[in-house]
Amino acid sequence: MTPRPQRNLSKSNAQFQRALKRLPLGVSSTFRYWGEDRTIYVARGKGGRTWDIDDNCYVDYRLGYGPAILGYADDRVDAAARKGMDVGGVFALSTERELIVADRIAKMVPAAELVRFSNSGTEAVMAALRLARAHTGRESYLLVEGGYHGLFDAAMWQADVEGWQEGGNTDPEVVPYGKGIPPTVRSLVHLTPMNDAQRLEDMFRRHGNDLAAMLIEPIQGNCCSIMANAEYVHLARELCTRYGVMLIIDEVKSGFRVGKGGIQGILGVTPDITTFAKAVANGYPIAIVAGREDVMRSFRYGGASHGGTYTAHSVSLAAADECLRILDETPALETLADYGERLKSGISSILNARGIVHSFSGHPSMFGLFFAPEPPDNYRAWKTSDYSFYDRMAHYLHDLGIICEPDSREPWFMCEAHGTDPTCLADTLRAVETAVDLTL
Ligand code: PMP
Repeated sequence: MTPRPQRNLSKSNAQFQRALKRLPLGVSSTFRYWGEDRTIYVARGKGGRTWDIDDNCYVDYRLGYGPAILGYADDRVDAAARKGMDVGGVFALSTERELIVADRIAKMVPAAELVRFSNSGTEAVMAALRLARAHTGRESYLLVEGGYHGLFDAAMWQADVEGWQEGGNTDPEVVPYGKGIPPTVRSLVHLTPMNDAQRLEDMFRRHGNDLAAMLIEPIQGNCCSIMANAEYVHLARELCTRYGVMLIIDEVKSGFRVGKGGIQGILGVTPDITTFAKAVANGYPIAIVAGREDVMRSFRYGGASHGGTYTAHSVSLAAADECLRILDETPALETLADYGERLKSGISSILNARGIVHSFSGHPSMFGLFFAPEPPDNYRAWKTSDYSFYDRMAHYLHDLGIICEPDSREPWFMCEAHGTDPTCLADTLRAVETAVDLTL
């Protein structure tokens, strides 16, 4: 019998009790609350590892939900960011570096003909949707089930798969994520399941002439890294063109991670608008709305509003300049994808040795682990599957020094530093082996 691992969390637990008095749930984002005696507070991160305030060290596969593409506290990016501080921060005026970074983006992602900066993924997608509406003069939009596009009202709708009878003719109801989302927004939202060509065609036949945009994460970074197949994305492109709908590819998680040109480069599809965030600046807050020239020119006086006090902040921009340079000019992305492959294959060996059926979804740089022979190809399939093994295993992994999201929908993210650290892989696989044995 493998003994249950012990982890000293006394300082984190005490911090949690103090924090509860000032911060709702003791945290600054609801997803950081992991339970009364399991919510950890971080002291620092370096490379692919994080230390909590009790000095527990973790190999970190959350990486802040993806941004730390090179690893935490990367010396190269941090040195650039410090130089960005010398520039002075924000001026409500433009600086020369905006164009330098925009040129880098356009070189790496051909669909990014014109570029605007935002501060977060939420802001970028919000601006992209507004741009699509301004450009088309239409209001409603189509989301793909299982997608996540940020915390603004228009994006916070999902398919109520739990309350839905599978196999019938009806689709799941469209419901808001939580309270506080006005039901009036509902009339503008349509939802369709990923990788279901017939339903997509039906949707466009019925609503195509009213849609301003279709938003899609072709690799669903918030749903087990479920992948759109290439035919589905090309069909979406074709239908959007036929009905005059803006295809928005949300690459907030996949951009500058799964490849220099993002998931759109891998699938060979050209969106009208793309959004990026996370990996752009190795964790410094910056996001991007980019797209086709004639569409992007709708950002103008009398057109779609876009701006914000902190957009193109000199620190984030300097960090983005250096991070994108590294991603473009060095083999960092290959290093981390190769590490992801080796990690997947190590996990597979452990599971195969125990006869545990499993599969991986997504890309080696952001993969989902799934306890079924095939990964799900849409949210309905994920939701109605058994993910309890993963949920239990994730808790043991935390105790054993691995940070992964307790919710199996969040992928495991790789960074360059995982690949260059001589012991990350062995430390991880040792912990996975123990966690699997404890879960069985
Ligand atoms: N789009 C996608 C695909 C995301 O994964 C996220 C964040 N997880 C967002 C948008 C929102 O980004 P942010 O948290 O930076 O607002």
